[in-house]
Amino acid sequence: MKVLVYSSKTFEIPYLKEANNSKHKLTFIEDGLTSETAMKSVGYEAISLFSADDANYNTLEKLKDFGVKYISLRSVGHDNVNLNAAARLHIKVANVPAYSPNAIAEHAVSLLLTLNRKLIESNQRVKYFNFDLNHLIGFDLNNKTVGIIGTGKIGAVMVKIMHGFGCKILGYDIQENKELVKQFGIRYVPLKDLCEQADIISLHVPLNTDTYQLINEDLIDQMKEGVFIINTSRGKVIHTEQVLMGLKSGKIGALGIDVYENESGIFFADHSHEIPNDDLLIKLNAMPNVLITGHHAFMTDEALTNIAETTIYNLDCWSNGKETENELTTAAITA
Ligand code: NAD
Repeated sequence: MKVLVYSSKTFEIPYLKEANNSKHKLTFIEDGLTSETAMKSVGYEAISLFSADDANYNTLEKLKDFGVKYISLRSVGHDNVNLNAAARLHIKVANVPAYSPNAIAEHAVSLLLTLNRKLIESNQRVKYFNFDLNHLIGFDLNNKTVGIIGTGKIGAVMVKIMHGFGCKILGYDIQENKELVKQFGIRYVPLKDLCEQADIISLHVPLNTDTYQLINEDLIDQMKEGVFIINTSRGKVIHTEQVLMGLKSGKIGALGIDVYENESGIFFADHSHEIPNDDLLIKLNAMPNVLITGHHAFMTDEALTNIAETTIYNLDCWSNGKETENELTTAAITA
């Protein structure tokens, strides 16, 4: 199958080539998918997309006209693809449902530990041979209450890790996981209760109409003074402007994010030689208690191997006339 791989990143190409083993004819381009770049897909039966690519209704219609039948996503999240439109246009879409929940949960913990123990400031001091310890006080994680919002694959690993630290775990999810209750003593509570009781809140829900700006000022008002918020899910799950107000007032003690509400068009590229023009991001970057990483929680060897293998597996299935269990468009039709 001829496949156009949009938003190809240098770091992932060797993984995709190895998983492909010359089965499909892969063409790598750096451009992301937009309604303008859709025309590059002329002559390709399949395309592969990354989480920043925008497969909205108009773009999908263009892809259909250009002969694209399959879209293999190199991501778990699929909020960037209009699945209903794809289903109606008979374009099959499949994702990588679980490439390494450990990679993401471990990154969430890294954000938490780095913020709590002020590792960046400490290291900056040491670089200047400043060994003063003032203002470096954190807190023990042992016995703290952690609220996990979304206890699916990544949230479940987060529960396990935080349980290892000796934390009490509260969960909020539309589907409770009884195994987590049994193994780690997690207590499922309404969102309001989780916010009232948690010292640390970690977000692991997908972006959908119910989770869009879930963390807003109403919910922040109910949180504990000094709460730590960690977000490795999707930027739009938090109302960033209102979270910034919470940080300024001291209500939120720290914010660790791997994803940012307006990351599209900013993340995944080098803008270091440009004047920054996203005021919200400038303000967040200026806060000493905010730690931002550029959507790189998935950057482990294991995760990249799994992403590449599943991306190629989905293409293999389609080129052999089979269904893939990772197909999302079937669910969109039945929903
Ligand atoms: P998952 O589907 O296994 O788990 C998501 C959980 O959220 C499920 O248990 C589901 O019931 C719950 N949920 C859905 N809607 C909800 C709602 N309205 N309220 C409460 N709970 C709700 O997904 P996962 O593999 O754990 O991934 C979670 C998200 O993490 C992905 O959707 C993706 O957006 C994000 N992610 C980020 C990165 C990164 O690099 N930062 C990498 C992978 C995934």
